[in-house]
Amino acid sequence: MDKNQFDALGKELSGNITKQGDSGYQQLRTGWNSFFDKYPAAIAQCKNSDDVARCFRFVKEYELEFSVRSGGHDYAGKSICEGGLVIDLSGMNSIEIDSAEKTAIVGPGVRWGAFDEAAQGHGLATTGATVSTVGVAGYTLGGGTGYLARKHGLALDNLLSARIITATGESILTSEYHYEDLFWAIRGGSGNFGIVTSFEFSLHEVGPEITAGQVVFPFDQAGDVLRFYRGFMQDAPEEIACYAFFLNAPPIDAFPESYHGKPVLSLVMAHIGDSETAQTELAPLLNFGDPIMNVVQPMPYTAAQTMFDEGMTSGNRWYSKAHYLDEISDVAIDTMLQHTKKLPGAFSVAYFEPLGGAINRVEPELTAFPHRDSAYTLHIFAGWADTETDEEPMNWAKEFHIAMSPHASGGVYVNLMGQDEENRVPDAYGSNFDRLKEIKKEWDPDNLFSHNHNIEPT
Ligand SMILES: Cc1cc2nc3c(=O)[nH]c(=O)nc-3n(C[C@H](O)[C@H](O)[C@H](O)COP(=O)(O)OP(=O)(O)OC[C@H]3O[C@@H](n4cnc5c(N)ncnc54)[C@H](O)[C@@H]3O)c2cc1C
Repeated sequence: MDKNQFDALGKELSGNITKQGDSGYQQLRTGWNSFFDKYPAAIAQCKNSDDVARCFRFVKEYELEFSVRSGGHDYAGKSICEGGLVIDLSGMNSIEIDSAEKTAIVGPGVRWGAFDEAAQGHGLATTGATVSTVGVAGYTLGGGTGYLARKHGLALDNLLSARIITATGESILTSEYHYEDLFWAIRGGSGNFGIVTSFEFSLHEVGPEITAGQVVFPFDQAGDVLRFYRGFMQDAPEEIACYAFFLNAPPIDAFPESYHGKPVLSLVMAHIGDSETAQTELAPLLNFGDPIMNVVQPMPYTAAQTMFDEGMTSGNRWYSKAHYLDEISDVAIDTMLQHTKKLPGAFSVAYFEPLGGAINRVEPELTAFPHRDSAYTLHIFAGWADTETDEEPMNWAKEFHIAMSPHASGGVYVNLMGQDEENRVPDAYGSNFDRLKEIKKEWDPDNLFSHNHNIEPT
């Protein structure tokens, strides 16, 4: 592709085009995960939906490879393409809150930190990611779990409408009342059906203070803690989300020095009810065992939403594997302990995220997201610095994942799929896969939107 053609495109956009060799290119071509080292021919930083539509006509006309990037946090590196055009929506970050109707209309470049701040200005929130830099767009289109999900459903369960540029280049508004098959498909089908240029969400009264924090246990108590945790979560109120999180204790003052760099088990929790109820309902978690750290306290909801931020900064290398589990058996706990007693890679973690509640109350066929009955997600997430070798942490994640397979209920959450898991796309959609392929055939028969966990047309 001739650089002049990109320059000509740039002249028609409100936003900028940055080509290979231009200043700023290096920074723009990278995403959150430095594992992916791709060189797109150019990056178009769109300012509005006309820019997006123009870029899309351009890639169609020249049959150019392209990817769509919003928050840039994709675990599989799909939002950056090699040699083509990255249609970057991160500058489309408008947020409109209607506090009377309890709704929000946001651009695709909005990240959860900004969304939460704006909605909390009205005492409102919707289910959002537990790290504030994650993009609203990719997260919602794949599912969207977080502290509010057990009470208020997945992010996509709170999606009221979305404006989308389809394969014909048309911009249409989809909802339960307009183009409902497309609206069904984008709630879980991720980027397969078009480019979403705005999202409308329902909001709920949350906070402004909730009770949140973590209780951290030495590794030698981890087995007992997990057995207690699974019992507690079985009947836990929906206001509680508690993650059982293995990590290497970071070398910071908050952790006793003798544990620095050693694996520990942290129960990371949030209770979105009032503080008195939270104290009562969290008491069993707060009083269990002999922790090395206990920092659970009332805090702004926006602060709880950034608790993980420090451990998940951009610029490191990451590799993701995941399962769903119906239950955590004794054998599953033993297997977990075997593989977490050493976490190769300074940032590697493995954790159970509880599901249930409002997530389970939605019928699996009501949206494209089918995994409504699982009790937990298990995320095995190897993370290491650029200076470390890839082999050890990646092999650890692969072997751990295989070892946990007998305890898994099948299926995988599309937003947690890594870069080498294309064969798992049917598992990600389970009983909804055939319908998704039919809808793909109708709306994108030539599979133009393929830089994603791809659903091929029937
Ligand atoms: C640090 C971290 C924390 C996370 N925490 C959570 C969590 O708490 N809960 C959870 O459920 N997930 C979580 N995730 C996973 C997250 O949901 C996915 O990585 C998601 O894809 C990120 O969305 P994004 O917009 O930032 O990504 P991007 O990389 O911009 O996009 C990912 C993919 O989504 C599609 N896409 C993006 N924007 C659009 C659009 N506007 N129109 C059409 N398709 C689009 C494209 O196919 C793209 O390749 C986390 C990820 C990270 C890295």
